[in-house]
Amino acid sequence: MLIDGHGRKVNYLRVSVTERCNFRCQYCMPEKPFTWVPKENLLSFDELFKFIKVAIDQGIDKIRITGGEPLLREDLDKFIKLISDYKPDIDLALTTNGFLLPQVAQKLKDAGLKRLNISLDSLKPAVAAQIAQKNVLGSVLEGIEKALEVGLKVKINMVPLKGINDGEILDILEFSRERGVQVRFIEYMENTHANSTIRGLFGKEILEIIKQRYTIKKIGRAPNSPSFSYQILENGYVFGLIDPHKHDFCEDCNRIRLTAEGYLIPCLYFDEAKSIAEAVREGDIDRASEILKDVLANKPKENRWSEDESEGSSRAFFETGG
Ligand code: SAM
Ligand code: SF4
Repeated sequence: MLIDGHGRKVNYLRVSVTERCNFRCQYCMPEKPFTWVPKENLLSFDELFKFIKVAIDQGIDKIRITGGEPLLREDLDKFIKLISDYKPDIDLALTTNGFLLPQVAQKLKDAGLKRLNISLDSLKPAVAAQIAQKNVLGSVLEGIEKALEVGLKVKINMVPLKGINDGEILDILEFSRERGVQVRFIEYMENTHANSTIRGLFGKEILEIIKQRYTIKKIGRAPNSPSFSYQILENGYVFGLIDPHKHDFCEDCNRIRLTAEGYLIPCLYFDEAKSIAEAVREGDIDRASEILKDVLANKPKENRWSEDESEGSSRAFFETGG
């Protein structure tokens, strides 16, 4: 069992398989083109899997693959199958912008993927294009339908932004409800890579908008989850709200992140990270295991998004996978 320096049990590994992305979401990536980490610096799927086996053997039983855009990485289905074959009962999920899903949803399902979170920030083509800086909506909607059709369990993620898509909170809630999938509204987390004019909505502002149409009841938070569940009394639908500006979910944080370059990151907010790349490349599994324990021993107690005047984290979401 993996325990961190604050006595929290860690059983959840988020693996970012690439920082590259086919979108340029204004809340996630810099406006101007920039250079990516050279491909040779990325760990291969075999190398990532060597570490994943260590992590699973020590108690990780939930893995989420993310990015950048994970579907951009070739042979992702084979990577998923490696993990799924090693531990068939693992809770294996993926977060994607959905753009490439129409082509790969079936392959992912066949490889052993169980759950998918798909980002959907707008149902208006022009607004979706404004946020992603690309004409994306048609393919994303097709991707959502395809994922449901092949039998993947889907959740929708939306980041409400002031003056951009905040008028669509109820539309995206209804879209999700009609398809029987849960939507989770995520507070915009300030970071130095985003467009500096972007402003997010706080959780209470998101709830106020939903309350204009519905009566809602707070259900609470599943253990270890950053998402608070709310139920709409008129129809029973349950949606989620992730509001990291109140860091009350840090107390039972169970997660650790691995980047495509092999950095182990103990908290999304902070810059701290240690690389397992060399250890894994040299096949030194004991050293990789020691680095994992060391990173866990130094996992911060809580994030700092709540601090006023802060411009947020310097961590890039497209590197860490959110
Ligand atoms: N490209 C995939 C996607 O967009 O779903 C996976 C990676 S993305 C970094 C993972 C999640 O982080 C997405 O749901 C995205 O909306 C969210 N995200 C990115 N930047 C964010 C920010 N500044 N604040 C809150 N959520 C953010
Ligand atoms: Fe790409 Fe996801 Fe970041 Fe958007 S949020 S730029 S889709 S990594």
